[in-house]
Amino acid sequence: MGIKENLEQLKITFKKQDCLLVAVSKTKPPGAIKEAYEAGIRDFGENKVQELVEKAPQLPKDIRWHMIGHLQRNKVKHIVPFVYLIHGVDSLRLLKQINKEGEKVKRVIPCLLQIHIAKEESKFGLDEKELEDIIWGKEMQHMEFIKIKGLMGMATNTDNPETVRKEFGYLKSLFEEIKTKALPKQVEMEELSMGMSGDYPLALEAGSTIVRIGSAIFGARNYNQTS
Ligand SMILES: *Cc1c(COP(=O)(O)O)cnc(C)c1O
Repeated sequence: MGIKENLEQLKITFKKQDCLLVAVSKTKPPGAIKEAYEAGIRDFGENKVQELVEKAPQLPKDIRWHMIGHLQRNKVKHIVPFVYLIHGVDSLRLLKQINKEGEKVKRVIPCLLQIHIAKEESKFGLDEKELEDIIWGKEMQHMEFIKIKGLMGMATNTDNPETVRKEFGYLKSLFEEIKTKALPKQVEMEELSMGMSGDYPLALEAGSTIVRIGSAIFGARNYNQTS
């Protein structure tokens, strides 16, 4: 099936659930992104700053670019002028850098805090204590150029649905728990970014509001390509 057909299938599912579909276009050429754009997609995700910065100017201006990968502090400045949402914020140091660069361009940068929910697959993400320290920490009060929109997580890459269900369930309950508490003005718990090609049905079941889907739209990635 082609990009258009894949999207038509997915869009039916996500409309029903009131969940935002982010098309993960990493490693894919601008031509493939245009095809998805013509099929109605406006939200695209990339995991490398350089790739994002190269592709964005070649594509329509109304695309909303999501930074979904691990972000290094020294690269933040390249994306703050235009990024729509940064999904993988996993430290206070990174958040402070985003705030600093946001201030330079006078732009409030929407972010999600990444929570470590997988067994040991992913090296990145905060635990509950670190999350609370960031949200209710003293430093948050001085950050005028960030907006925390919610949480993000990646489940273990496994064929066992029970493991994945448990991890997504944990993230959802953490999200709901934080929501009930008094939050600083920079924090709005509205979005829960979880679910990829292999596990999005389980993520939707658990209450995800954003899914990040690559290979189920664009086909498998080939990392050995030279271009
Ligand atoms: C690559 C990637 C995705 C999409 O992966 P697929 O399995 O191709 O859907 C989602 N989230 C993150 C953080 C990624 O790096």
